[in-house]
Amino acid sequence: MDNLMHAIETQGKALDSDVLLVDSFLNHQVDVSIMEEAGETFAKAFAGVKIDRVATIESSGIAPAAFTARALGVPLVIMKKQTSRIMTGEAVHVPVRSFTKGTVYELMCKKAFLPEGDSVLFIDDFLASGEAAFGAMKIFEMCGCQLAGIGILIEKSFQAGREKLQEKGIRTVSLARVASMETGHVSFLPADA
Ligand code: 5GP
Repeated sequence: MDNLMHAIETQGKALDSDVLLVDSFLNHQVDVSIMEEAGETFAKAFAGVKIDRVATIESSGIAPAAFTARALGVPLVIMKKQTSRIMTGEAVHVPVRSFTKGTVYELMCKKAFLPEGDSVLFIDDFLASGEAAFGAMKIFEMCGCQLAGIGILIEKSFQAGREKLQEKGIRTVSLARVASMETGHVSFLPADA
């Protein structure tokens, strides 16, 4: 996706060799047209796969996941990182290590929104070590859902997540694959879609 890669090149800032700051179009201010194009690209990439719902993790996955769900015509489920008084009913919980914060949070979802037997496409903003993706997959498994595949906006290919998913035979479609980040320069691998 050329628009996404152009935004990464022109607006992204490597905070260090590990963390990419993209708050001007993804994590704080949102470029909605890039998110819409991402949603349509994921929907095309997974055409022909049985998808009953799209799921993501709050908050930065919501924009691309919403457009994906819209393009596929299925519901969007937002898995939560924090409990609240609206988290009533039976829920599943999985501890996940946050790549950016270095702390552990409880990823949770109401079972009612991931019905047993459904096939779920997981969408997220970044793939780094794969902790978030594996946490989401554990939630789907606990609810009796199948994983339809994974769609990622920005994969940092030099970190372990992609390889771990590949080892498990999980189809992962990344719209931008960052090979390396140095001050002022980001290099890419060929994207999956
Ligand atoms: P993982 O669980 O794969 O290690 O990391 C994925 C999660 O960490 C994503 O959901 C994203 O919120 C966050 N993340 C990982 N790497 C980066 C990064 O370089 N920049 C930003 N902004 N978020 C990241």
